[in-house]
Amino acid sequence: MSHQTVPSRSSADGRPPATLLVDGTWRSADTCFDVVDPATLEVIGRAADAAPPDAREALDAASAAFPGWRSVPAEERAAHLRIAAGEIRNRADHLADLLTRENGKPLAEARGEVLASARMLDWSAEEGRRTYGRVTPPAANGPGLVLKAPVGPTLAITPWNFPASMLARKLGLALAAGAPIIAKPAEQTPLIAAALVHILQETGLPTGVLQLLTTSRPAEVVGALLEDRRLRKLSFTGSTEVGLGLVRGTGGWLRRISLEMGGHSPAIVCADADLAAAAAGVAAAKFTNAGQSCTAINRLYVHREVHDEFLSLLLDKVAALKLGHGAAPGTTTGPLIDQYGLAKVERHVRDAVAHGARAQTGGRQWIPDRAELKGAFYEPTILTGVDDTMQICREETFGPVLPVHVVDDDQEAVDRANDTDYGLAAYAFATDFRRIWKIVDGLNFGIIGINEPAPVRPELPFGGMKNSGQEREGGSEGIEAYLETKSVAFKL
Ligand code: NAD
Repeated sequence: MSHQTVPSRSSADGRPPATLLVDGTWRSADTCFDVVDPATLEVIGRAADAAPPDAREALDAASAAFPGWRSVPAEERAAHLRIAAGEIRNRADHLADLLTRENGKPLAEARGEVLASARMLDWSAEEGRRTYGRVTPPAANGPGLVLKAPVGPTLAITPWNFPASMLARKLGLALAAGAPIIAKPAEQTPLIAAALVHILQETGLPTGVLQLLTTSRPAEVVGALLEDRRLRKLSFTGSTEVGLGLVRGTGGWLRRISLEMGGHSPAIVCADADLAAAAAGVAAAKFTNAGQSCTAINRLYVHREVHDEFLSLLLDKVAALKLGHGAAPGTTTGPLIDQYGLAKVERHVRDAVAHGARAQTGGRQWIPDRAELKGAFYEPTILTGVDDTMQICREETFGPVLPVHVVDDDQEAVDRANDTDYGLAAYAFATDFRRIWKIVDGLNFGIIGINEPAPVRPELPFGGMKNSGQEREGGSEGIEAYLETKSVAFKL
């Protein structure tokens, strides 16, 4: 774990923060940890620091709740989610403000994420009523049935970069499917998780169906759950490194595992693209959330004949970005989450420049002229003169830096785009349909945006190939991740 937390006994107002929801009760823990605004480094709250005994208690409660929750009619389960979605919309301003202060993203992006969380709960509610099985044609002995059953007690582990929507994806689908769920948010962003879980719990969910473990000790708390065979499902969103570690350390029990992990997204700009729209799209898909998105473009391949014109349009877009506190009017780009994030970005840029790359703009830490902005800001950066061997072209950067490559044809662009261990998202900007189809067919990525910088919708399955993950969230595939399949053969 790279994040450092400060243990203490009470929250800022002297009372212990009750951010654990275990067995139907909100409660605190023996210690708690600080939550900071990444732009100012000011402590904005504290969260209870759950320990392994809390985790075991939560799993006891989830196991006890499972038979009842799976028997609740799907329509009733869906009603909880729809009410919560409405309440999230009602409280969107407050939730967006909290999200900005905890994560650093600009308010408009935070609001978009909050509303996307509500949409995801609505989608889950609808999907929960459509978990159909099927009847197979009679064989010699009789017909067969394929039944779908909720997977059972589930653990959701979520990251700090989209702490509301990543949680909503998991909570919505698990609850709609009839599976009790224990949420374990990232230690940087426990407060938005507590706010969302509060809203869901206020809909009158039965005890143990939804629980929350905020903790600064994820390995210990998660370890206590993984070693227990009653945990039937792990749904993880976070880095590839931690995700692969969890797969290796499953406690000796096979269980269903969904993994949504790191990305290294390529984007291709073809000669026939609408270049102005492509520049706006690339800037959005790169610099949203200060480049800290799993689907952020990390490598750009531009056709030689339009390279110079496109680069100039892109530099205009970057020049219009405004760094600052996410809550300040006009801010488009907030801070990186912490010093560790900054150190990785600096390492990638240093390596690229040492190997011949040139920063067309940016290329250094941004030092604000306002004393209260003590966080880790980095100037939006465009690198040219890059090659595929540089660290930035092999690893996820998770910051506002974009290396721009030149390519001579579509096949070269697709081959170089595919030359990675990741397979989450890819983008192409073009107009000719045959050309687009060939690119889509050639790209080995789970999510593809065509002239679309934000290719994430509840209706579409979200997830990656290769080391970016397995299983999907969203689309009709999403709920399948929380269902077991039973085959029933009849002899009549
Ligand atoms: P992270 O892997 O450090 O942490 C993710 C979660 O795992 C957090 O809740 C953390 O507390 C927990 N965790 C950390 N170490 C653990 C351990 N040893 N045992 C159990 N749990 C542990 O990732 P992050 O820095 O929070 O998030 C950024 C990463 O997430 C990036 O790589 C990004 O690409 C990825 N991400 C992927 C998707 C996707 O859908 N594919 C979405 C968002 C973020």
